[in-house]
Amino acid sequence: MNYISTRDKSVKVTAAVAIAQGLSNDGGLFVPDSFPKFTDKDFEYLTGVDYKQRAKFILKQFLNDFTEEETDYCIEGAYTGSFQNEQPAPISLIGKNANLLELWHGPTCAFKDLALQLLPYLLTTSAKKVNGGKKAVILVATSGDTGKAALEGFKDVENTEIIVFYPCEGVSNMQKLQMSSQKGENVHVFGIKGNFDDAQSGVKKIFSDNLVKEKLAENNMLFSSANSINWGRLAPQIVYYVSAYCDMLKRGEDLKDGFNVVVPTGNFGNILAAYYAKKMGVPINKLICASNVNKVLTDFIKTGKYNRNREFFATNSPSMDILISSNLERMIFELSGNNDKEVAKYQADLAEKGEFTVSDSIKTAMSELFFGGFCDEKQTLETINKYFSEYGYLCDTHTAVAMNVYDQYIAETGDDRPTVIASTASPYKFANSVLSAVTDEKADSDFAEVRLLNKVSAMEIPEPIAELENAKVRFNEICDKTEMVSAVYSALKID
Ligand SMILES: *Cc1c(COP(=O)(O)O)cnc(C)c1O
Repeated sequence: MNYISTRDKSVKVTAAVAIAQGLSNDGGLFVPDSFPKFTDKDFEYLTGVDYKQRAKFILKQFLNDFTEEETDYCIEGAYTGSFQNEQPAPISLIGKNANLLELWHGPTCAFKDLALQLLPYLLTTSAKKVNGGKKAVILVATSGDTGKAALEGFKDVENTEIIVFYPCEGVSNMQKLQMSSQKGENVHVFGIKGNFDDAQSGVKKIFSDNLVKEKLAENNMLFSSANSINWGRLAPQIVYYVSAYCDMLKRGEDLKDGFNVVVPTGNFGNILAAYYAKKMGVPINKLICASNVNKVLTDFIKTGKYNRNREFFATNSPSMDILISSNLERMIFELSGNNDKEVAKYQADLAEKGEFTVSDSIKTAMSELFFGGFCDEKQTLETINKYFSEYGYLCDTHTAVAMNVYDQYIAETGDDRPTVIASTASPYKFANSVLSAVTDEKADSDFAEVRLLNKVSAMEIPEPIAELENAKVRFNEICDKTEMVSAVYSALKID
């Protein structure tokens, strides 16, 4: 297996290059040129082993130029001791068929930890092979959760610097405090005046700016990415969908007609990983793509037209406030039959006009694989309330969007087969909104809200959130979106 660029498939690299580099020089994303297909025997083996063994078995297939020892070392390092349980992705069954795949028991209380605890290991191992001793500079654009998870993953990792840009009006208080109080000698955090798309476009532009790259090279440095454009972010996410399937088999669930997967979606990374799991043989029936009112994906799945020219809403599920879903490019590459020219054309249209329309065959394939739905902020809160009062299950705002769209899907299709719902964050990360959904009582500070939520729900406060109350703010610099390059230079102390 090698990796090719979605915009020029003559570009062919190993896993280490794809991970160390992050993005192809032509602006395309790296994808495997073939996928392994698991047999019943493989699933039987995987069902009998723990999460780390599952991860090793699956990721070995993708890390073509890693030795077995290297892969094992990375996975042991990532998943030993950093999650609340030995199983970092446990399932809570609600009602008869809703399997909440809880991906928020890691150090930053959001699903990004599953990949970002592992990525630093994958990246430093890759960099040793291909960077010739250069320091890796990780640039991150975040809608709130990636930033913190990447900072935690990369803090004080040798021979790396990490620089995070977040939209200063677009993240929750808790998310902001998590990032601005980050410890570590190699970490840098900036708020930018703009939204997530501005941050992401800015970062992508820096990646393909030759002048900036030369400047880094002169200083013996090299850029890489911890965003889900990096293959090293996506591959670890495939693992938990395979793992969820194995856990359901182990429980004796009847899955002969497959199961559905619902994912609260922003950048299309998490749901793409579920698609790849399906492609590798996991019997996933429908992929249900849940959006908030920034419903660019719902519209795309229905119409085949992707149009980002619309109002941007800052919502109570901020990690999904995105109008340019980067990983959709990988999906379209796949559905076009690996047609790099076609993908490059759509992406050029998106850059120039803010929209593109896919061919009929892609549109049809897309709507067969996916069901797209969305809900507004009020419905999000109502859904939190509904599942809390009916089942005593408290979910965060992002997961609530998924639950709401799951309900819509059942109402529309009657298809109530077993379903895995990606539960992407701890409700405490969005305590303010979650609290307003379950009680009329008010609290007068962020941490008073956390305590009140604990009183109302009796759900344990995660340690990383409790700790924040006394955390010291280290970073409060805000820059204009046009000043991102100088922010990078100042962080790296180069000029
Ligand atoms: C990042 C994030 C999402 C969106 O995931 P994508 O992979 O970008 O689609 C959903 N929920 C939470 C809590 C997140 O942090």
